[in-house]
Amino acid sequence: MARDVVLPDPVKFVLNWGRRYSLWVFNFGLACCAIEFIAASMSRHDFIRLGVIPFAHSPRQADLMVVSGTVTDKMAPAVKRLYDQMPEPKYVISFGSCANCGGPYWDSYCVTKGVDQLIPVDVYVPGCPPRPEALLQGILRLQDKIAAEELVLRGGARPPLPPDPAARYTAPLIQPVQPLTQPDTAR
Ligand code: SF4
Repeated sequence: MARDVVLPDPVKFVLNWGRRYSLWVFNFGLACCAIEFIAASMSRHDFIRLGVIPFAHSPRQADLMVVSGTVTDKMAPAVKRLYDQMPEPKYVISFGSCANCGGPYWDSYCVTKGVDQLIPVDVYVPGCPPRPEALLQGILRLQDKIAAEELVLRGGARPPLPPDPAARYTAPLIQPVQPLTQPDTAR
């Protein structure tokens, strides 16, 4: 029977080193925090020097999703769908109070109380809005986390997928067709 194999430390170091310094970022800018994110990518703060590459053209090329801004319940299925389209390994930074917990809109009927209700979050950056330096700090924390990751060659059966937390927000794409009622012409 095939078994999982833990890779040796030198291989783990090289692979994690490559991953932590080539994070292609998919910006999910939803509100004011997105402006701070853009500022962090410009020449003054320049997160490219940390090995973060702006901006992936689609989630299919991205390694890192930065959710910056207010996630509404209407937007939640799109966040989940685009996260699902990112290839493994993938990472998420929740940038700002709104993405962390709903922020100033925590008691709104239409705001998701934190993007971690939809997708797994690796690093939370607090603030309303956080400054670009806070995002740089969050990226450094994420890189520390990636450097310490265990790498396992999967040989066994895949574990079952967890239940989809966004399913409760998602309306069915195809509605069942209702039969037309015919007028009663027999009489
Ligand atoms: S945390 Fe503050 S600055 Fe960021 S999106 Fe929410 S309200 Fe705007």
